[in-house]
Amino acid sequence: MAVIDEKLDDVYAEVLHRNPGEGEFHQAVREVIDSLGPSIAKHPEFTRRKIIQRICEPERQIIFRVPWEDDRGEVHINRGFRVEFNSALGPYKGGLRFHPSVNLGIVKFLGFEQIFKNALTGLPIGGAKGGSDFDPKGRSDQEIMRFCQSFMTELYRHLGEYTDVPAGDIGVGTREIGLMFGQYKRITNRWESGVLTGKGLEWGGSLVRTEATGYGTVFFVQEMLESHGMSLEGRTAVVSGAGNVAIYAMEKLIEEGATVVACSDSAGVVFDQAGIDLDLVKQIKEVERGRISDYVDRRSGATYKDGACIWEIDCEIALPCATQNELTGRDAEKLIANGVVAVAEGANMPTTPEGVRAFQEAGVLFGPGKAANAGGVATSALEMQQNASRDSWTFEYTEDRLRQIMKSIHTACDETAKEYGQEGNLVIGANIAGFERVARAMVALGLV
Ligand code: NDP
Repeated sequence: MAVIDEKLDDVYAEVLHRNPGEGEFHQAVREVIDSLGPSIAKHPEFTRRKIIQRICEPERQIIFRVPWEDDRGEVHINRGFRVEFNSALGPYKGGLRFHPSVNLGIVKFLGFEQIFKNALTGLPIGGAKGGSDFDPKGRSDQEIMRFCQSFMTELYRHLGEYTDVPAGDIGVGTREIGLMFGQYKRITNRWESGVLTGKGLEWGGSLVRTEATGYGTVFFVQEMLESHGMSLEGRTAVVSGAGNVAIYAMEKLIEEGATVVACSDSAGVVFDQAGIDLDLVKQIKEVERGRISDYVDRRSGATYKDGACIWEIDCEIALPCATQNELTGRDAEKLIANGVVAVAEGANMPTTPEGVRAFQEAGVLFGPGKAANAGGVATSALEMQQNASRDSWTFEYTEDRLRQIMKSIHTACDETAKEYGQEGNLVIGANIAGFERVARAMVALGLV
């Protein structure tokens, strides 16, 4: 591990002490704190006002019981979470994750990341995250509805367009957002579109929101490549996952002239030398809600391997778009040996610290998730703008806004890295640029 600036040593020790057993949260805090030494040296007021200590402590954490009944009449009890981390820049904003692995430490790591990501967008949104250890896999539509209604029956009292505005994440897409919005509306008797984002197009959603995280990640890759005189045209890419982020990252890669040869889900990896047939992936994952292994039954020439590692496949562009810590130091070494040129994180914290270090030492262009996957939340903020003005923008206009936002995030990371003598290190650039925007607001707002 890198050596932390000694002024920050105690801060990190205190985080470990106050939040025992929350490994992912520790990892996320450490990764940010590692970058902040030069910033706090330049801004003594951040130390005086204990900005880092305050940023590491959520403003509010809500944990609640979610009881529901399955189709056989059996009762289940899940746990719901919402961690409202920081509202210095705007209402709390961040997705809801439904996955059996969800626990407080995971929600806190995601909420912590979200503070800096949201700051980087330049938009008025604070940071939060939430979810449940509910597993939607194999559940009927009725079971999903009963769960979402029960979840919202508690969560609604903490939400509001000026307070806290959740969106989707793993296991939560337009279907679940719709069911939660319906329950919110029923309980409050308010058609308050600004209370959730990722809504369906007929009832307050924004064009491009579905595509935004994946597209934004690819726009970020284009910025990284262009700043080094390269492009995506003709490049071979692999994308892990086959969910919302992965599908639309693949779509934009293909549109921009790259060939995507592999994608995956939590069970295994599909390899298709001729280039992934994205319509088929969408049919399987979005329409049939099936497994990626189904792909090879309908596509000759493609292969599927259970439990395989996608990072062993030769590529120049690698986009981890599934989940945290899915790309390790060893995986990074394999990608480097196979000639990877650029890696960008569509998922949150998918690369372990060893992986990040290996890429940086090998001179691989590396886009950290806070910056590279910020297109999703940025477009959620654009959805909020449209809701507030009772307006709907065209696909082209919204996509162009997204592209501009990704460009400005890249510029902010790049210039901040240069300002602090770390040219090309977008990890440090993203951490400091995001942190300083929040820190200045926290100083201005006083001790709250
Ligand atoms: P989805 O639920 O749509 O898809 C998740 C994909 O990742 C699925 O293919 C899933 O496979 C795979 N996956 C999930 N957990 C694991 C695991 N433990 N090991 C291996 N594969 C796994 O989620 P999203 O696409 O929305 O989210 C993916 C990532 O992107 C997450 O890290 C999320 O936090 C991040 N993100 C999402 C944003 C959004 O707008 N949706 C915005 C910014 C970041 P399986 O079906 O087998 O579980």
